[in-house]
Amino acid sequence: MKDRYGREINYLRISLTDRCNLRCVYCMPLHGLTFVPNENLLTAQELEKVVRAAVDTGFKKVRLTGGEPTLRHDIVEVVHRLTHINGVEQVVMTTNGYRLPHIAQELANAGLKRVNIHVDSLDKETLPQLMRLGSYDKAWAGIEAAEKAGLTPIKLNAVITRGYNDDAAVELARLTLKKNWQIRFIELMPFAGPTEIQLDHYVSSEETKIRIETELGPLFAVNDAKLDGEARVYRLAAAEGTIGFISPVSNHYCDDCNRMRLTADGRMRMCLLSDKEINFKHTLRNGGTHQDLVNLFEKAIVGKPVGHQLKNGIYPESRTMSQIGG
Ligand code: SAM
Repeated sequence: MKDRYGREINYLRISLTDRCNLRCVYCMPLHGLTFVPNENLLTAQELEKVVRAAVDTGFKKVRLTGGEPTLRHDIVEVVHRLTHINGVEQVVMTTNGYRLPHIAQELANAGLKRVNIHVDSLDKETLPQLMRLGSYDKAWAGIEAAEKAGLTPIKLNAVITRGYNDDAAVELARLTLKKNWQIRFIELMPFAGPTEIQLDHYVSSEETKIRIETELGPLFAVNDAKLDGEARVYRLAAAEGTIGFISPVSNHYCDDCNRMRLTADGRMRMCLLSDKEINFKHTLRNGGTHQDLVNLFEKAIVGKPVGHQLKNGIYPESRTMSQIGG
């Protein structure tokens, strides 16, 4: 289904939980967060109902995220239920990868196609300063487990944060010379919670690109640097893999946005960076039918804003990224 601005909306991102085993500086404060009580998280069965309605509204792709989606004890069941819905073409996941050595094969067997793994640095000392409670060894073990289970092609996500991992981009980009991976650099976005970090430590994609080119040589645009999902993709000479820049702040892609986000507590956000939400959980838990959910999706698509309003100084204030689902 198309929205009022002619965009085909077909990509649903689902936050399975707002809990995480890490406390990344730009995402979750160390203390003082309250989490959605388990009984208020959508169950595997409810998620299946939502996705069945999504398919009937034209959605084709589902991404599971969080918080950390692999912390859900029923993660394999969720994947299995969603991948077996007719019309769902792809279920993928964004994760920090720490639990993948235990469950990657089960997830692949349940139908998960691939994973994006979040790793902000390849330096053992830098990584836990940014990804608090994190460890390079665990991240790397997760990446290896994903490859072994065939959750490929692997994409790695990094957020360059001034004063924390300024030089990480070069080492991460260097990986693409030998590995057929896509390393993606995401610009820091402001949310409620750790907003000071997000505003004061922002680094533009352009700055990151120049840093990589200065050290590793020119980056060549893949497909004329047209958007591939939300990333503009480049390649180093003779590299196996590619480098993507996700620039929601400096060069936003709202005109091509095809997504909606379901929060862990069952609210649909029509734009990551706008606080407007529609309460799906209320309908699910008050006798709502399949058609009621389809109607809600249609309302959400019609209500999708034209774009975010960061340039006008309007930031999402009601939730952190971990609560929305990144
Ligand atoms: N736990 C999983 C992970 O670490 O990838 C999934 C959730 S996490 C919120 C998803 C992505 O959002 C990560 O790549 C993370 O770096 C990114 N992220 C979190 N806060 C952000 C912010 N303020 N700006 C930009 N990206 C952010």
